[in-house]
This record gives sequence, structure tokens and C-alpha cells, in this order.
Amino acid sequence: MTAELYHLIGGKKVKGTSGRFSDVYWPMTGEVAARVPLASAAELRAAVENAKAAQPAWAATNPQKRARVMLKFLQLIEENYGELAEMLSREHGKTIPDARGDIQRGLEVVEFACGIPHLQKGEFSEGAGPGIDMFSMRQPLGVVAGITPFNFPAMIPMWKFAPAIVCGNAFILKPSERDPSLPLRLGELMLEAGLPAGILNVVNGDKESVDAILDDEDIRAVGFVGSTPIAEYVYTRATANGKRAQCFGGAKNHMIIMPDADMDQVADALIGAGYGSAGERCMAISVAVPVGEETADRLIAKLTPRVESLKIGLSTDPDADFGPLVTAEAVERVKGYVNIGIEEGAKLVVDGRDFVMQGYEKGFYMGGCLFDNVTPDMRIYKEEIFGPVLSVVRAKDYDEALRLPSEHEYGNGVAIYTRDGDTARDFMTRVNVGMVGVNVPIPVPLAYYTFGGWKRSGFGDLNQHGPDAIRFYTKTKTVTSRWPSGVKEGAEFSIPTMD
Ligand code: NAD
Repeated sequence: MTAELYHLIGGKKVKGTSGRFSDVYWPMTGEVAARVPLASAAELRAAVENAKAAQPAWAATNPQKRARVMLKFLQLIEENYGELAEMLSREHGKTIPDARGDIQRGLEVVEFACGIPHLQKGEFSEGAGPGIDMFSMRQPLGVVAGITPFNFPAMIPMWKFAPAIVCGNAFILKPSERDPSLPLRLGELMLEAGLPAGILNVVNGDKESVDAILDDEDIRAVGFVGSTPIAEYVYTRATANGKRAQCFGGAKNHMIIMPDADMDQVADALIGAGYGSAGERCMAISVAVPVGEETADRLIAKLTPRVESLKIGLSTDPDADFGPLVTAEAVERVKGYVNIGIEEGAKLVVDGRDFVMQGYEKGFYMGGCLFDNVTPDMRIYKEEIFGPVLSVVRAKDYDEALRLPSEHEYGNGVAIYTRDGDTARDFMTRVNVGMVGVNVPIPVPLAYYTFGGWKRSGFGDLNQHGPDAIRFYTKTKTVTSRWPSGVKEGAEFSIPTMD
């Protein structure tokens, strides 16, 4: 029988009452493994009520005690790593080592959040005026929410809730309905780690619960990660309702290959960054830009046999390069883009559309595809495909290569491969993209830096994790203080100055 999932509200597992459900698949086999309840606006409201009631006491808990819950949570994750990675891999489809990486990159932000008692400190100026001290405090916002995508069901929820909670907020997490089990499990482990009930609520759902979050007067800030149209929608509606919002969207990450680059390193980088996790990463490289025809020919010669021999396998196969995609619709969408690319006149050098996983014919698999002679006017260049498809766009010189990612509507990540320091420095300075790799294909910043794309890859001013997370999840209060001995007699009618 298909398992029925639940919400985690007020510290308890709560059955869905809306009567609406969504199927949760195991992509490796294609079978429906569970059904997840889709919350109504009333169920979302119940979670907010719980969060609102619990938050003041949590904000009044001293910061090191709040951080200590995260230390215990880290320990619990370490103890359950294997079980968690398997759970994640089963519902997402990524391989077990990749699932472990997903958890690990989330944990790094949890580690960072353990230092928030230091980072949340305000400033103090003694004697800012006669007998006057001035200081600032960073106070939590209250109840905040995170809406997360399917492709990192461990990392992105942790990026959102760990800093928010240690800053003293209560959190409503609305994970992807496609792989909700791991986010639910994270919520349970937070309770086991000693988090008071109501501080982290996991509400499963779709547009109805997202809209309820966006319209709820008690939710002060919304963090979103997902596709660009939804990111823009969430940003517009949340900010129109007076909320703080940071919304991260889709991507089209380019890798520039200069003629002096080490072509073996380039091929390794493109194979991993283009096809790892079946290309279902917002930092995947989906466009390779060799500079000059000769570089392009060498690149295609190196890449072709590597793409042809990619090992697509079960998520549990330790030798697999990548596993299935997340759903049957995702496979159809990606194959649809390959068909469009052929119609647009791009040259399909490696065709993975017909790949079948023997014995698992109902699983959501496809092979790696490689396009050459892609041009900037094509849809396969302009739009995010989010699958194991790499497009090669030949640039005649460096200036053209710099222009391509700079003028693309997305601006998440970009990389350049070169041995020349001057070229690398010029590129990192001038390229109009938020995260840059120099001979690094997936430049995901570490937890103590911030993560965020530019242009239509990110809406809002503050990035995820790093110091921006503390700015996003707190508001600053500034106090000017004087004791009676410092107060001068008489009313002051002019604007106070500190003379
Ligand atoms: P998605 O936009 O379909 O879903 C993201 C979230 O929005 C989910 O929780 C989903 O339930 C909700 N949602 C979906 N449709 C909605 C609607 N009409 N109204 C309100 N809410 C809705 O994204 P996805 O397919 O889960 O994830 C893949 C996308 O996320 C890709 O575009 C990828 O590039 C992007 N992504 C971006 C980053 C980043 O940091 N920039 C990181 C990871 C993934």
C-alpha cells in the first residue's frame, strides 16, 4: 500500500485534511511510493498560529542555547547520514554520493549558523554625545517562511531554516511536493535536537499553500528557490504584501574555454558539471563556449567519447555517473528540448534520448546529449533545460565569449578555463554574473560567503547564507541612551545634535 505522508506542525505529525494529495515517485523504478498531502490555506494558517505562539519565548532564549540546538542537530545528522542519503536518493533519483553531498552542503550552513551568536551582535558607541551611548541590536523578524525546490531537498531547506531559527525566528518550510520525505525528516531531527515545538513547521503543499504564505499577515519574510517564473511571482506578491523577500530562480551557466586551457581538465570539468545529477542543478554547466574554431574542434573531439560512455545507472549503483531524472514529465520536457534543438538547426553530436535502463523500463531515465553549433537565437540556448544536455556555442574571440553570459537573461554561475591570469582577472571583473569560477566549474560559495545569482536568476537584494542571511532574517533597532545625570535642563526645540 502507498504510504501517506503528513505535515509537521506544532511539533507533531499532522495528517492532511484538505483531501488533496500529490503522488511521490521513486524515479529509479518509476513506482508511486507515497502520497503527500497538499495543505489548504487553513492548514497553513494553523502552522503560522503555532509558530507565532512559540516564537517570543524562542527569541528570548539566549543565543548560545539557540545555537546549541544546531550543534545537536549536526550530531544527529552525522549519526543518520546513511539512512538520510538513501531516503533522499530514492525520491530524487540522484546517486548516493551525490545525495551525501546535498546533505553536506546543507550541514555547512548549519555549522555557520552555530556562529550566529557572534554574527548577530550589534554595534556600540560609548560617548556618542555628552553622556550619550548609542547602540544597535539585530532582532528576529518573527515568523518567516521558506519555499524550496525538488533538486536539493536537504541543502536548500537547511540553508533557509538554520540561520533563520538561530537568529530567533520561527520558520514555516514548504518543501517541494516531489521529494518531501527528507525535509520532513530534517524537521523531526530538529525536534529531537531540542528545538521547541512550533519553531520549525513543515507544511507540504502546492500553489494553494504558497499563496497562503504570501498573503499571511504574520509571515514577515519569504525565502524562495525554484524556477524563474515562480521566483518572480513569489517576489512580486510577497513584496506587494509588505514582506521581505529573496527569490532565487533558474540558470544557464556558461563555461568559457580559452585556447590555452588544459583540454583534459576542461573535459573532466564539463562532464562532471554538465551531467552530474542528470543536469538537475542550478549551478550545472549547460553551455560550453570554446574560443576559436580550433579550440572548439579539440573540445568536441574530447567530449564526444566521454558523453557517449557516460554510465547512467540506478541511484544505488556506486559506479553510476548519474541516475534517473525526477519525474516522467521532466524526461519528456528535456527530450522535447532536444527535439527543438534539432529543428532549430543545432548539430546533435550525442543523442541520449533512446536510453533504456534494462529491467527498469518504467524509471525516469535518459542518456547524456551533446549539441554543437548552438547559436544565441535558439531556444535551447535561451531557456533552462535542466537535464543532461550540454550545448556548445562557438565564439570567435574572447570579447564574444565574455558577452554571451553577460547578456544572457540568467546570471547565476559562470566559469572560465585558462592558464592566463590577465584573462581570468579581466573576466571575473567584467562578467555580468553573480558567481564566477576560475578553473572551477561549479563555483558554489562556501557557507561563510553568500550564494546568489544576478539578473533573472535572483530577485531581492540579499543573498543566501553568509553574512546576508543574518541581515535577511533580522531587523536592526538603534538605541540612543542617556542617564539622568547627563540630561541638560530645558526643552530643546531644534533638531538634537551631539555637540
Ligand atoms: P519550481 O519552481 O517548480 O518549484 C519550486 C517551489 O515552488 C516548490 O516548492 C513548488 O511547490 C512551488 N511552486 C511550483 N509551482 C508553483 C506555483 N504555480 N505557484 C506557487 N508555488 C509554486 O522549481 P523546481 O522544479 O522544484 O526546481 C528546479 C528549479 O529551481 C530550476 O529552475 C533550478 O534552476 C532552480 N533552482 C535555483 C537555485 C538557485 O539558487 N538559483 C537552486 C536550486 C534550484
